[in-house]
Amino acid sequence: KQSELKGFLGKETKTLDGDTVELFCNIGTPKDAKKAIECDGEGIGLFRSEFLFMDNNHMPTEDEQFAAYKEATEIMGGKPVIIRTLDIGGDKDIPYLNMKKEENPFLGYRAVRYCLGNKDSYMIQLRAIVRASAFGKVKIMIPLVTCVDELRAVKELVEEIKKDFDEQGIAYDKDIEVGCMIETPAASLIADILAKEADFFSIGTNDLTQYTMSVDRGNADVAYLYSTFQPSVLRSIKNIIECGRKAGIPVGMCGEAAADPMLIPLLISFGLTEFSVNPVLVLTARCVISKWSKEEADKLAEKVMALDNEKEIVALLKESAKE
Ligand code: PEP
Ligand code: MG
Repeated sequence: KQSELKGFLGKETKTLDGDTVELFCNIGTPKDAKKAIECDGEGIGLFRSEFLFMDNNHMPTEDEQFAAYKEATEIMGGKPVIIRTLDIGGDKDIPYLNMKKEENPFLGYRAVRYCLGNKDSYMIQLRAIVRASAFGKVKIMIPLVTCVDELRAVKELVEEIKKDFDEQGIAYDKDIEVGCMIETPAASLIADILAKEADFFSIGTNDLTQYTMSVDRGNADVAYLYSTFQPSVLRSIKNIIECGRKAGIPVGMCGEAAADPMLIPLLISFGLTEFSVNPVLVLTARCVISKWSKEEADKLAEKVMALDNEKEIVALLKESAKE
C-alpha cells in the first residue's frame, strides 16, 4: 500500500481519463508549507491565518504578518497560496481581542463579519497579504460569506490598498484574486450570484455541514447528524460546483471531506477542480482520484443523488469506494 502511494510522488493529479485536477494542502503556519512541499502538495488551498493570531499575545503587526505570508509563499516557490483572512469567533477565541461573550457564537460576530466591523485591523492583514503577493501566486479568501455585500466590501478594501501601493511604489501582484469560502447555506443558495464577482470558490464542508444540518460541529449528542453524506449537504455541494462551473470560475474544496475516498468520486462527477487536504493525505487523495473515470463517477453520483437518506448513501459509497 505504502509503496503504491510512493508511486504517486512527483506525479500530476489526474482522473483515470487523464483529466487534471489540482491537489493542494491545508496549513496553519508558514512551517507547514515545508510539509506541504515534502508531501508533494501542488499549492496551498487554505492557509488558516488565525493561528498567527492565536499563537500570539498581541495583534500581529503588518510586518509580522507580511513576514509569515511571504515565508509560506516563498517556500511554495510560485505555486498558488490561498490565504484565508482571519476566521475567529465561533469556537476560536483570541484573548487579547477582548471579544464579547455570545449566546450563539457560531451564529454571531465571527470571521468576515468581525473583520469588516474592525476595518483598521482588517486593513493591516489585507495589506500584509497584498504585499506578500509580490513573492509568488497569492490569493485572498474570505471566510463565512453569507451575502454579496461582504464580497464587494472586501474587494473594495483590496482595491483601496492597490491604489495606495501604486502611489507609494510598493510591489504586489496586480492580478491578485479574491475568492469566497462557501460554507454557509446562504452562500450556497446564492452561489450563482457570488460566482459573478468572486475569482474562485472553496467549499468549507466542516462549516457547511454544521450550518446545513443545524448541528454544532463539536456537540457529541448530535454528532450522528453531522455528515457530509446527508442528501441536503450533497445537494448543496453539487449546486455550488455547478454555479462555479457555469460562471467559469474554479471551485475547490478545503473542508476535511475533500480527502474522503467515499466523497471523491462525487466531487469528480460534479466537476470540482481543486482538492485541498491535510499534507499527509496528498498521496492517498491522488491515488483515489487516479482510479475514477468521469463516466464511472457520473454513474455512481446519479445513483447516490437518487437516494433519500444518509445511511443508504454511505453504504453505497462504501461498497463502491476505491482505495
Ligand atoms: C470548513 O469550515 O470546512 C473550513 C475549512 O474551515 P474551518 O474548518 O477552519 O472552519
Ligand atoms: Mg469554516
